[in-house]
Amino acid sequence: MDCIFCKIVNGDIPSSKVYEDDLILAFNDIQPVAPVHVVIIPKAHTMNGAADITAENSSVIAHIFETIPKIAKEKGIENGFRVVTNNGTDAGQSVNHIHFHLIGGKVLEAKIG
Ligand code: 5GP
Ligand code: ZN
Repeated sequence: MDCIFCKIVNGDIPSSKVYEDDLILAFNDIQPVAPVHVVIIPKAHTMNGAADITAENSSVIAHIFETIPKIAKEKGIENGFRVVTNNGTDAGQSVNHIHFHLIGGKVLEAKIG
């Protein structure tokens, strides 16, 4: 599969790693929209986007959300951060390997969408 994030997991494309364990990987976004912009992904490409989350595969998503506070603390953004996932064309999803953007390090715009 020609997937940029799978290539990052495999080490075929370098990334600035923030966190890694058996199930998930977090790395700095190549085009950050804020001083802190981390992308968090399941290592296994079992979901293209949030629309594919089911009761059977959601444990890795829970694991991502359990890890987000640790990454936020390590990045010093406990004051406030935003977690975003884009699903599908209308949302501007550009990589079809489910991922969550962890954004912070500045006062974020109050409105989303
Ligand atoms: P999406 O637009 O699908 O929600 O988010 C994809 C994100 O992946 C974008 O913010 C984009 O900057 C980031 N991205 C795309 N290719 C690479 C890459 O090769 N390395 C890193 N670190 N980030 C990437
Ligand atoms: Zn992938």
